[in-house]
Amino acid sequence: MPRKLAAGNWKMNGLRADLSELETLASAHSDATVDILICPPATLIGAAQGTLFDIGGQDCHANAKGAHTGDLSAAMLADAGASYVLTGHSERRTDHAETDAIVAAKSQAAYGAELTAVICIGETLAEREGGTTLAVIDTQLAGSVPDAATARNTVIAYEPVWAIGTGKVPTAAQIAEVHAHIRARLTDRFSDGAEFRILYGGSVKGSNAAEIFAIPNVDGALVGGASLKAADFSPIISALE
Ligand code: PGA
Repeated sequence: MPRKLAAGNWKMNGLRADLSELETLASAHSDATVDILICPPATLIGAAQGTLFDIGGQDCHANAKGAHTGDLSAAMLADAGASYVLTGHSERRTDHAETDAIVAAKSQAAYGAELTAVICIGETLAEREGGTTLAVIDTQLAGSVPDAATARNTVIAYEPVWAIGTGKVPTAAQIAEVHAHIRARLTDRFSDGAEFRILYGGSVKGSNAAEIFAIPNVDGALVGGASLKAADFSPIISALE
């Protein structure tokens, strides 16, 4: 069984004062038996270092360096203290027109800097209602996950776009179906496919975490809104333990 992972994605939220939430979290989970990852805005990666958590970026450029004003390379994130980076989050795919090929290139760049890529995939509401969810997942897995992926350098996050920040959560049966499908595709393609961690993301909170974590092939969660406050994230971590 892969070691479980509770990941928090702060998105474009968080100032230095908010790092006190991490101190609160650290004192509550000093003996955590699961991995905990915090992805703060890049401005806080350096200041967020601690012993309990892994720290991740929320995006990286596909190139190692160069004339890309405002962008950050995977090596820069690693140099600042990150050991993970999110790639292909649906907000990046939407706001910055990131294609599967771009996501694969960014994930490959992450490997080059010895970062673990948390590669995000998931269907839109129209795709769900149109019955194409599993086909969309197949396309995104094939296009976004590099051939060099391993269970050590890659985590897959299944985040239905319609569940992100909406309070809407798929049924347990819907999550189970997609996670089993992802697992099957990973084991088809990679010799260590059974060991990849597959996270669920989209409106995870303390009140629904235990039910979600009981679903087969759910190895943790990628949490947005409920990761910002220790009081909200802590019960999610506890539910995973
Ligand atoms: P949410 O976001 O938990 O606020 O729905 C999840 C995500 O976008 O990673």
